[in-house]
Amino acid sequence: MVRSMQPRIVPRDEHGISRKQISPNALRTLYRLRDNGFTAYLVGGCVRDLLMGRTPKDFDIATDAVPGQIKRLFRNCRLIGRRFRLAHLHFQDEVLEVSTFRALAPPEEPEGEEAEPDGRPPRHVKDEDGMVLRDNVFGTPEEDARRRDFTINALAYNIADFSVIDYCNGLSDLEQRLIRPIGDPAVRFTEDPVRMIRAVRFAGSHGLTIEPATWEILCSLAPTITRAAPARLYEEMLKLFLLGAARPVFGLLASSGLSAALFPEPHRWLAGGADRLTVLESNLECLDRLCRSALTPAPALFLAALFGPGLEEETLARHREGVPHQQAMDAACSRFLGEIAGTVTIPGRIGGQLRRILALQPSLHRMPPRRPAALAARPDFADAIAYLLMTTKTRQENRTALAWWQAYIQSPPGTGPETPAEKVPGKRRRRRRRRGRPAGQTAAPEDGSQEP
Ligand code: ATP
Ligand code: MG
Repeated sequence: MVRSMQPRIVPRDEHGISRKQISPNALRTLYRLRDNGFTAYLVGGCVRDLLMGRTPKDFDIATDAVPGQIKRLFRNCRLIGRRFRLAHLHFQDEVLEVSTFRALAPPEEPEGEEAEPDGRPPRHVKDEDGMVLRDNVFGTPEEDARRRDFTINALAYNIADFSVIDYCNGLSDLEQRLIRPIGDPAVRFTEDPVRMIRAVRFAGSHGLTIEPATWEILCSLAPTITRAAPARLYEEMLKLFLLGAARPVFGLLASSGLSAALFPEPHRWLAGGADRLTVLESNLECLDRLCRSALTPAPALFLAALFGPGLEEETLARHREGVPHQQAMDAACSRFLGEIAGTVTIPGRIGGQLRRILALQPSLHRMPPRRPAALAARPDFADAIAYLLMTTKTRQENRTALAWWQAYIQSPPGTGPETPAEKVPGKRRRRRRRRGRPAGQTAAPEDGSQEP
Protein backbone atom coordinates (compact mmCIF):
# COMPACT_ATOMS: atom_id res chain seq x y z
CA MET A 1 0.00 0.00 0.00
CA VAL A 2 1.11 3.57 -0.63
CA ARG A 3 1.85 5.30 2.69
CA SER A 4 -0.31 8.31 3.43
CA MET A 5 1.64 11.57 3.62
CA GLN A 6 0.85 15.06 4.81
CA PRO A 7 0.47 17.29 1.78
CA ARG A 8 2.27 20.58 1.40
CA ILE A 9 -0.38 23.29 1.68
CA VAL A 10 0.40 26.70 0.23
CA PRO A 11 -1.95 29.37 1.58
CA ARG A 12 -3.69 31.87 -0.72
CA ASP A 13 -1.20 34.71 -0.20
CA GLU A 14 1.79 32.51 -1.02
CA HIS A 15 0.82 31.37 -4.51
CA GLY A 16 -0.04 33.24 -7.66
CA ILE A 17 -3.52 31.87 -8.40
CA SER A 18 -6.21 34.53 -8.43
CA ARG A 19 -9.91 33.79 -8.73
CA LYS A 20 -10.05 36.26 -11.62
CA GLN A 21 -8.11 33.74 -13.72
CA ILE A 22 -10.67 30.99 -13.07
CA SER A 23 -13.64 30.57 -15.37
CA PRO A 24 -16.77 32.02 -13.71
CA ASN A 25 -18.63 28.76 -14.37
CA ALA A 26 -15.93 26.77 -12.61
CA LEU A 27 -15.95 29.17 -9.67
CA ARG A 28 -19.74 29.00 -9.32
CA THR A 29 -19.60 25.20 -9.47
CA LEU A 30 -16.90 25.06 -6.80
CA TYR A 31 -18.89 27.42 -4.56
CA ARG A 32 -22.09 25.45 -4.93
CA LEU A 33 -20.37 22.18 -4.03
CA ARG A 34 -18.69 23.87 -1.06
CA ASP A 35 -21.93 25.50 0.11
CA ASN A 36 -23.62 22.11 0.05
CA GLY A 37 -21.05 20.67 2.39
CA PHE A 38 -18.78 18.97 -0.13
CA THR A 39 -15.03 19.24 -0.59
CA ALA A 40 -14.30 20.76 -4.01
CA TYR A 41 -10.97 21.33 -5.71
CA LEU A 42 -9.79 22.59 -9.05
CA VAL A 43 -7.46 19.82 -10.20
CA GLY A 44 -5.13 18.72 -12.94
CA GLY A 45 -3.74 20.76 -15.79
CA CYS A 46 -5.61 23.95 -14.94
CA VAL A 47 -3.83 24.33 -11.58
CA ARG A 48 -0.48 23.66 -13.28
CA ASP A 49 -1.26 26.24 -15.96
CA LEU A 50 -2.52 28.88 -13.52
CA LEU A 51 0.67 28.52 -11.49
CA MET A 52 2.72 28.84 -14.69
CA GLY A 53 0.82 31.99 -15.68
CA ARG A 54 -0.75 30.23 -18.68
CA THR A 55 -4.41 30.23 -19.67
CA PRO A 56 -5.83 26.77 -18.92
CA LYS A 57 -7.45 24.88 -21.77
CA ASP A 58 -10.16 23.56 -19.49
CA PHE A 59 -11.07 23.56 -15.80
CA ASP A 60 -11.53 20.22 -14.07
CA ILE A 61 -13.10 19.83 -10.65
CA ALA A 62 -12.74 16.96 -8.17
CA THR A 63 -15.05 16.51 -5.22
CA ASP A 64 -16.19 14.03 -2.60
CA ALA A 65 -19.75 14.33 -3.92
CA VAL A 66 -20.64 11.11 -5.77
CA PRO A 67 -22.10 11.28 -9.29
CA GLY A 68 -25.72 11.03 -8.11
CA GLN A 69 -25.20 13.90 -5.67
CA ILE A 70 -23.56 16.03 -8.37
CA LYS A 71 -26.50 15.35 -10.66
CA ARG A 72 -28.98 16.46 -8.03
CA LEU A 73 -27.08 19.72 -7.45
CA PHE A 74 -26.73 20.78 -11.09
CA ARG A 75 -29.54 20.83 -13.62
CA ASN A 76 -27.06 21.08 -16.51
CA CYS A 77 -25.34 17.85 -15.46
CA ARG A 78 -24.93 14.75 -17.59
CA LEU A 79 -23.27 11.65 -16.22
CA ILE A 80 -20.90 10.00 -18.65
CA GLY A 81 -18.22 7.31 -18.74
CA ARG A 82 -18.23 3.57 -18.68
CA ARG A 83 -14.92 2.94 -16.92
CA PHE A 84 -15.47 5.68 -14.38
CA ARG A 85 -18.69 7.65 -13.98
CA LEU A 86 -18.10 11.38 -14.06
CA ALA A 87 -20.25 14.45 -14.49
CA HIS A 88 -20.21 16.92 -17.34
CA LEU A 89 -21.77 20.29 -16.57
CA HIS A 90 -22.93 21.94 -19.76
CA PHE A 91 -22.74 25.73 -19.91
CA GLN A 92 -23.35 27.89 -22.94
CA ASP A 93 -19.70 28.19 -23.89
CA GLU A 94 -17.95 25.51 -21.88
CA VAL A 95 -18.27 22.02 -20.49
CA LEU A 96 -16.83 21.38 -17.04
CA GLU A 97 -15.75 17.96 -15.89
CA VAL A 98 -16.62 17.19 -12.29
CA SER A 99 -15.34 13.87 -10.99
CA THR A 100 -15.56 12.17 -7.66
CA PHE A 101 -12.17 11.63 -5.96
CA ARG A 102 -10.84 8.43 -7.36
CA ALA A 103 -8.63 5.71 -5.87
CA LEU A 104 -5.39 4.18 -7.08
CA ALA A 105 -5.22 0.68 -8.47
CA PRO A 106 -3.64 -1.10 -5.46
CA PRO A 107 -0.34 -2.75 -6.47
CA GLU A 108 -1.14 -5.99 -4.70
CA GLU A 109 -4.45 -6.40 -6.48
CA PRO A 110 -4.56 -9.60 -8.54
CA GLU A 111 -4.35 -9.08 -12.27
CA GLY A 112 -7.09 -10.16 -14.63
CA GLU A 113 -10.86 -10.25 -14.51
CA GLU A 114 -11.48 -11.40 -10.94
CA ALA A 115 -14.65 -10.46 -9.15
CA GLU A 116 -14.70 -8.46 -5.92
CA PRO A 117 -15.36 -10.56 -2.77
CA ASP A 118 -19.02 -9.51 -2.83
CA GLY A 119 -19.42 -10.81 -6.39
CA ARG A 120 -19.50 -7.40 -8.09
CA PRO A 121 -17.34 -6.96 -11.20
CA PRO A 122 -13.69 -6.11 -10.45
CA ARG A 123 -12.91 -2.44 -9.87
CA HIS A 124 -9.30 -2.50 -11.05
CA VAL A 125 -8.28 -4.71 -13.94
CA LYS A 126 -4.82 -4.91 -15.52
CA ASP A 127 -3.78 -7.00 -18.49
CA GLU A 128 -0.91 -9.49 -18.26
CA ASP A 129 1.64 -6.74 -19.05
CA GLY A 130 0.37 -4.42 -16.35
CA MET A 131 -1.69 -2.09 -18.55
CA VAL A 132 -4.74 -0.83 -16.65
CA LEU A 133 -7.94 -1.94 -18.36
CA ARG A 134 -10.41 -0.77 -15.79
CA ASP A 135 -10.26 1.24 -12.56
CA ASN A 136 -13.40 2.69 -11.12
CA VAL A 137 -13.45 3.18 -7.43
CA PHE A 138 -13.95 6.31 -5.40
CA GLY A 139 -11.11 7.41 -3.15
CA THR A 140 -9.64 10.14 -0.97
CA PRO A 141 -8.21 13.45 -2.21
CA GLU A 142 -4.74 12.03 -1.67
CA GLU A 143 -5.48 8.89 -3.68
CA ASP A 144 -6.99 11.06 -6.37
CA ALA A 145 -3.74 13.05 -6.57
CA ARG A 146 -1.53 9.94 -6.60
CA ARG A 147 -3.29 8.20 -9.46
CA ARG A 148 -2.57 11.15 -11.76
CA ASP A 149 0.20 10.99 -14.34
CA PHE A 150 2.80 13.62 -13.43
CA THR A 151 3.60 15.45 -10.21
CA ILE A 152 2.86 18.82 -11.82
CA ASN A 153 -0.59 17.51 -12.86
CA ALA A 154 -1.48 16.42 -9.32
CA LEU A 155 -1.85 19.84 -7.70
CA ALA A 156 -5.21 20.97 -6.34
CA TYR A 157 -6.72 24.38 -5.62
CA ASN A 158 -9.04 24.19 -2.61
CA ILE A 159 -12.08 26.45 -2.82
CA ALA A 160 -12.58 26.18 0.97
CA ASP A 161 -9.55 28.37 1.77
CA PHE A 162 -8.08 29.14 -1.69
CA SER A 163 -4.91 27.19 -0.87
CA VAL A 164 -2.90 24.95 -3.20
CA ILE A 165 -2.56 21.33 -2.04
CA ASP A 166 0.49 19.35 -3.14
CA TYR A 167 0.70 15.62 -2.29
CA CYS A 168 3.35 14.64 -4.85
CA ASN A 169 6.04 17.31 -4.80
CA GLY A 170 4.54 18.93 -7.87
CA LEU A 171 5.35 22.48 -6.76
CA SER A 172 9.05 21.74 -6.48
CA ASP A 173 9.05 20.02 -9.91
CA LEU A 174 7.16 22.94 -11.36
CA GLU A 175 9.79 25.35 -9.99
CA GLN A 176 12.49 23.21 -11.62
CA ARG A 177 10.34 22.92 -14.76
CA LEU A 178 10.50 19.11 -14.62
CA ILE A 179 8.07 16.48 -15.82
CA ARG A 180 8.23 13.51 -13.49
CA PRO A 181 5.72 10.67 -13.22
CA ILE A 182 4.18 9.99 -9.84
CA GLY A 183 5.80 6.76 -8.68
CA ASP A 184 7.93 4.42 -10.77
CA PRO A 185 8.08 5.75 -14.36
CA ALA A 186 8.36 2.25 -15.85
CA VAL A 187 5.23 1.10 -14.00
CA ARG A 188 3.29 4.26 -14.82
CA PHE A 189 4.21 4.15 -18.54
CA THR A 190 3.35 0.46 -18.69
CA GLU A 191 -0.03 0.98 -16.99
CA ASP A 192 -0.87 3.55 -19.64
CA PRO A 193 1.54 4.04 -22.55
CA VAL A 194 -0.29 7.24 -23.59
CA ARG A 195 1.41 8.90 -20.62
CA MET A 196 4.63 8.84 -22.68
CA ILE A 197 2.96 10.93 -25.34
CA ARG A 198 1.56 13.26 -22.70
CA ALA A 199 5.04 13.76 -21.23
CA VAL A 200 6.37 14.73 -24.64
CA ARG A 201 3.40 17.02 -25.26
CA PHE A 202 3.77 18.93 -22.00
CA ALA A 203 7.53 19.21 -22.49
CA GLY A 204 7.08 20.61 -26.01
CA SER A 205 4.15 22.89 -25.32
CA HIS A 206 5.11 24.17 -21.87
CA GLY A 207 8.89 24.41 -22.32
CA LEU A 208 9.48 21.79 -19.60
CA THR A 209 12.14 19.09 -19.36
CA ILE A 210 11.38 15.43 -18.90
CA GLU A 211 13.35 14.38 -15.82
CA PRO A 212 16.50 12.56 -17.11
CA ALA A 213 15.89 9.11 -15.57
CA THR A 214 12.28 9.27 -16.78
CA TRP A 215 13.45 10.21 -20.27
CA GLU A 216 15.68 7.14 -20.45
CA ILE A 217 12.83 4.87 -19.44
CA LEU A 218 10.49 6.60 -21.85
CA CYS A 219 12.93 6.03 -24.73
CA SER A 220 13.28 2.35 -23.84
CA LEU A 221 9.51 1.87 -23.59
CA ALA A 222 8.67 3.97 -26.68
CA PRO A 223 7.96 0.90 -28.89
CA THR A 224 5.18 -0.13 -26.48
CA ILE A 225 3.14 2.94 -27.44
CA THR A 226 1.44 0.77 -30.07
CA ARG A 227 -0.36 -1.07 -27.25
CA ALA A 228 -2.56 1.98 -26.67
CA ALA A 229 -5.97 2.00 -28.34
CA PRO A 230 -5.69 3.38 -31.92
CA ALA A 231 -8.70 5.69 -31.48
CA ARG A 232 -7.19 7.20 -28.34
CA LEU A 233 -3.87 7.68 -30.11
CA TYR A 234 -5.63 9.69 -32.81
CA GLU A 235 -7.15 11.96 -30.16
CA GLU A 236 -3.67 12.42 -28.68
CA MET A 237 -2.28 13.21 -32.15
CA LEU A 238 -4.70 16.11 -32.43
CA LYS A 239 -3.42 17.51 -29.14
CA LEU A 240 0.19 16.95 -30.15
CA PHE A 241 -0.04 18.70 -33.47
CA LEU A 242 -2.90 21.20 -33.37
CA LEU A 243 -2.19 23.17 -30.21
CA GLY A 244 0.59 25.39 -31.50
CA ALA A 245 3.65 23.39 -30.43
CA ALA A 246 3.86 20.76 -33.17
CA ARG A 247 7.48 21.55 -34.03
CA PRO A 248 9.04 21.11 -30.55
CA VAL A 249 6.73 18.17 -29.84
CA PHE A 250 7.76 16.43 -33.06
CA GLY A 251 11.43 16.85 -32.14
CA LEU A 252 10.82 14.98 -28.89
CA LEU A 253 8.61 12.36 -30.54
CA ALA A 254 11.41 11.66 -33.01
CA SER A 255 14.28 11.60 -30.50
CA SER A 256 12.38 9.38 -28.05
CA GLY A 257 11.54 6.76 -30.67
CA LEU A 258 7.79 7.35 -30.25
CA SER A 259 7.29 8.60 -33.78
CA ALA A 260 9.19 5.63 -35.24
CA ALA A 261 6.81 3.32 -33.36
CA LEU A 262 3.69 5.28 -34.29
CA PHE A 263 4.48 5.92 -37.94
CA PRO A 264 7.12 3.41 -39.04
CA GLU A 265 6.75 3.95 -42.76
CA PRO A 266 6.80 7.77 -42.80
CA HIS A 267 9.69 7.51 -40.39
CA ARG A 268 11.63 5.46 -42.92
CA TRP A 269 10.89 8.19 -45.47
CA LEU A 270 12.27 10.73 -43.01
CA ALA A 271 15.46 8.74 -42.56
CA GLY A 272 16.05 8.96 -46.34
CA GLY A 273 17.69 12.41 -46.21
CA ALA A 274 18.60 15.24 -43.86
CA ASP A 275 16.67 17.75 -45.99
CA ARG A 276 13.47 15.81 -45.33
CA LEU A 277 13.59 16.61 -41.65
CA THR A 278 14.03 20.28 -42.53
CA VAL A 279 10.93 20.07 -44.75
CA LEU A 280 8.83 18.55 -41.96
CA GLU A 281 10.09 21.00 -39.37
CA SER A 282 9.32 23.93 -41.60
CA ASN A 283 5.81 22.57 -42.29
CA LEU A 284 5.20 22.11 -38.58
CA GLU A 285 6.43 25.60 -37.80
CA CYS A 286 3.94 26.90 -40.33
CA LEU A 287 1.22 24.79 -38.74
CA ASP A 288 2.10 26.23 -35.34
CA ARG A 289 1.83 29.76 -36.70
CA LEU A 290 -1.62 28.93 -38.08
CA CYS A 291 -2.69 27.47 -34.73
CA ARG A 292 -1.50 30.54 -32.88
CA SER A 293 -3.43 32.81 -35.23
CA ALA A 294 -7.19 33.00 -34.95
CA LEU A 295 -7.57 30.15 -37.44
CA THR A 296 -8.03 26.62 -36.21
CA PRO A 297 -6.56 24.35 -38.85
CA ALA A 298 -8.55 21.30 -39.88
CA PRO A 299 -7.26 18.06 -38.37
CA ALA A 300 -6.31 16.85 -41.83
CA LEU A 301 -3.83 19.69 -42.10
CA PHE A 302 -1.55 18.18 -39.48
CA LEU A 303 -1.60 14.94 -41.46
CA ALA A 304 -0.76 16.90 -44.60
CA ALA A 305 2.05 18.77 -42.81
CA LEU A 306 3.56 15.54 -41.50
CA PHE A 307 2.90 13.07 -44.26
CA GLY A 308 2.14 15.26 -47.31
CA PRO A 309 5.76 15.58 -48.49
CA GLY A 310 6.28 11.81 -48.49
CA LEU A 311 2.93 11.19 -50.16
CA GLU A 312 3.64 13.79 -52.83
CA GLU A 313 6.99 12.16 -53.54
CA GLU A 314 5.36 8.77 -53.85
CA THR A 315 2.68 10.22 -56.11
CA LEU A 316 5.30 11.73 -58.37
CA ALA A 317 7.14 8.41 -58.59
CA ARG A 318 3.91 6.60 -59.58
CA HIS A 319 3.07 9.41 -62.01
CA ARG A 320 6.46 9.03 -63.70
CA GLU A 321 5.61 5.37 -64.25
CA GLY A 322 2.58 6.48 -66.22
CA VAL A 323 -0.19 6.49 -63.60
CA PRO A 324 -2.42 9.59 -63.94
CA HIS A 325 -1.64 12.08 -61.20
CA GLN A 326 -4.98 11.95 -59.38
CA GLN A 327 -4.97 8.17 -59.41
CA ALA A 328 -1.38 8.07 -58.20
CA MET A 329 -2.26 10.41 -55.30
CA ASP A 330 -5.29 8.29 -54.39
CA ALA A 331 -3.18 5.14 -54.37
CA ALA A 332 -0.49 6.74 -52.20
CA CYS A 333 -3.08 8.03 -49.71
CA SER A 334 -4.91 4.69 -49.57
CA ARG A 335 -1.67 2.84 -48.94
CA PHE A 336 -0.67 5.27 -46.20
CA LEU A 337 -4.07 5.32 -44.47
CA GLY A 338 -4.26 1.52 -44.65
CA GLU A 339 -0.82 1.12 -43.10
CA ILE A 340 -1.31 3.57 -40.28
CA ALA A 341 -4.79 2.21 -39.42
CA GLY A 342 -3.34 -0.58 -37.24
CA THR A 343 -1.76 1.95 -34.88
CA VAL A 344 -3.71 5.19 -35.13
CA THR A 345 -7.36 5.34 -36.19
CA ILE A 346 -7.68 8.21 -38.61
CA PRO A 347 -11.41 8.75 -39.13
CA GLY A 348 -12.49 8.17 -42.74
CA ARG A 349 -13.72 11.75 -43.02
CA ILE A 350 -10.29 13.09 -42.06
CA GLY A 351 -8.50 10.70 -44.40
CA GLY A 352 -10.80 11.99 -47.17
CA GLN A 353 -9.87 15.56 -46.28
CA LEU A 354 -6.18 14.72 -46.48
CA ARG A 355 -6.67 13.27 -49.96
CA ARG A 356 -8.57 16.33 -51.13
CA ILE A 357 -6.04 18.82 -49.71
CA LEU A 358 -3.25 17.05 -51.57
CA ALA A 359 -5.31 16.45 -54.70
CA LEU A 360 -6.15 20.15 -55.00
CA GLN A 361 -2.50 21.21 -55.04
CA PRO A 362 -1.77 20.76 -58.78
CA SER A 363 -4.86 22.83 -59.62
CA LEU A 364 -3.68 25.55 -57.23
CA HIS A 365 -0.17 25.46 -58.73
CA ARG A 366 -1.46 25.90 -62.26
CA MET A 367 -1.07 29.51 -63.35
CA PRO A 368 -3.37 30.96 -64.44
CA PRO A 369 -5.84 28.65 -62.70
CA ARG A 370 -8.83 27.14 -64.37
CA ARG A 371 -12.19 28.09 -62.87
CA PRO A 372 -10.84 29.63 -59.66
CA ALA A 373 -14.29 30.36 -58.26
CA ALA A 374 -15.19 26.69 -58.56
CA LEU A 375 -11.96 25.74 -56.82
CA ALA A 376 -12.54 28.31 -54.11
CA ALA A 377 -16.01 26.91 -53.50
CA ARG A 378 -14.65 23.46 -52.65
CA PRO A 379 -15.10 22.64 -48.95
CA ASP A 380 -11.41 21.94 -48.44
CA PHE A 381 -10.19 25.02 -50.32
CA ALA A 382 -9.04 26.98 -47.23
CA ASP A 383 -7.04 24.00 -45.94
CA ALA A 384 -5.59 23.35 -49.39
CA ILE A 385 -4.44 26.99 -49.46
CA ALA A 386 -2.95 26.57 -45.98
CA TYR A 387 -1.01 23.56 -47.27
CA LEU A 388 0.09 25.58 -50.31
CA LEU A 389 1.32 28.25 -47.91
CA MET A 390 3.26 25.63 -45.97
CA THR A 391 4.91 24.04 -48.98
CA THR A 392 5.69 27.41 -50.54
CA LYS A 393 7.52 28.52 -47.42
CA THR A 394 9.24 25.17 -47.03
CA ARG A 395 10.34 24.53 -50.58
CA GLN A 396 10.38 28.05 -51.97
CA GLU A 397 8.17 26.84 -54.83
CA ASN A 398 4.88 28.10 -56.24
CA ARG A 399 5.31 31.58 -54.83
CA THR A 400 3.50 33.16 -57.77
CA ALA A 401 0.61 30.75 -57.33
CA LEU A 402 0.37 31.53 -53.63
CA ALA A 403 0.46 35.29 -54.25
CA TRP A 404 -2.22 34.89 -56.92
CA TRP A 405 -4.51 32.98 -54.62
CA GLN A 406 -3.93 35.32 -51.71
CA ALA A 407 -4.88 38.25 -53.94
CA TYR A 408 -7.90 36.31 -55.17
CA ILE A 409 -9.09 35.58 -51.64
CA GLN A 410 -8.63 39.18 -50.54
CA SER A 411 -10.28 40.85 -53.52
CA PRO A 412 -13.98 41.55 -53.01
CA PRO A 413 -16.43 39.55 -55.14
CA GLY A 414 -16.71 40.88 -58.66
CA THR A 415 -13.46 42.84 -58.49
CA GLY A 416 -11.18 39.85 -58.00
CA PRO A 417 -8.96 38.41 -60.67
CA GLU A 418 -11.61 36.03 -61.97
CA THR A 419 -11.09 34.78 -65.43
CA PRO A 420 -13.60 35.67 -68.13
CA ALA A 421 -14.24 31.98 -68.52
CA GLU A 422 -15.78 32.01 -65.08
CA LYS A 423 -17.84 35.06 -65.67
CA VAL A 424 -19.42 33.29 -68.62
CA PRO A 425 -19.55 29.70 -67.43
CA GLY A 426 -19.81 27.10 -70.07
CA LYS A 427 -18.30 29.16 -72.92
CA ARG A 428 -15.26 27.05 -73.51
CA ARG A 429 -13.64 29.16 -76.18
CA ARG A 430 -13.51 32.29 -74.03
CA ARG A 431 -11.83 30.35 -71.27
CA ARG A 432 -8.57 30.46 -73.20
CA ARG A 433 -8.50 34.24 -73.42
CA ARG A 434 -7.64 34.87 -69.82
CA ARG A 435 -7.55 38.44 -68.62
CA GLY A 436 -7.46 40.32 -65.37
CA ARG A 437 -4.64 38.45 -63.71
CA PRO A 438 -3.01 40.13 -60.75
CA ALA A 439 0.05 42.21 -61.56
CA GLY A 440 3.23 40.25 -62.08
CA GLN A 441 1.51 36.99 -62.82
CA THR A 442 3.05 34.89 -65.54
CA ALA A 443 1.08 32.70 -67.84
CA ALA A 444 3.21 29.63 -67.22
CA PRO A 445 3.46 27.91 -63.85
CA GLU A 446 6.37 29.46 -61.99
CA ASP A 447 7.88 26.16 -60.98
CA GLY A 448 6.81 23.99 -63.84
CA SER A 449 4.26 22.15 -61.73
CA GLN A 450 1.93 20.18 -63.89
CA GLU A 451 -1.77 19.70 -63.94
CA PRO A 452 -3.29 16.48 -62.71
P1 ATP B 1 -4.37 20.04 -21.06
O1 ATP B 1 -3.82 21.40 -20.90
O2 ATP B 1 -3.95 19.38 -22.29
O3 ATP B 1 -5.84 19.93 -20.82
P2 ATP B 1 -4.24 18.42 -18.71
O4 ATP B 1 -3.11 18.05 -17.79
O5 ATP B 1 -5.36 19.20 -18.11
O6 ATP B 1 -3.62 19.19 -19.92
P3 ATP B 1 -6.23 16.52 -19.40
O7 ATP B 1 -6.20 15.49 -20.48
O8 ATP B 1 -7.23 17.60 -19.45
O9 ATP B 1 -4.75 17.11 -19.35
O10 ATP B 1 -6.35 15.72 -18.04
C1 ATP B 1 -6.67 16.34 -16.82
C2 ATP B 1 -5.87 15.69 -15.70
O11 ATP B 1 -6.21 14.30 -15.58
C3 ATP B 1 -4.35 15.71 -15.87
O12 ATP B 1 -3.78 16.92 -15.45
C4 ATP B 1 -3.94 14.54 -15.01
O13 ATP B 1 -3.92 14.90 -13.65
C5 ATP B 1 -5.06 13.54 -15.22
N1 ATP B 1 -4.77 12.63 -16.32
C6 ATP B 1 -5.05 12.79 -17.62
N2 ATP B 1 -4.63 11.75 -18.34
C7 ATP B 1 -4.07 10.88 -17.47
C8 ATP B 1 -3.44 9.61 -17.59
N3 ATP B 1 -3.32 9.04 -18.79
N4 ATP B 1 -2.99 9.03 -16.47
C9 ATP B 1 -3.12 9.61 -15.26
N5 ATP B 1 -3.68 10.81 -15.08
C10 ATP B 1 -4.16 11.45 -16.17
MG1 MG C 1 -7.08 19.72 -19.11
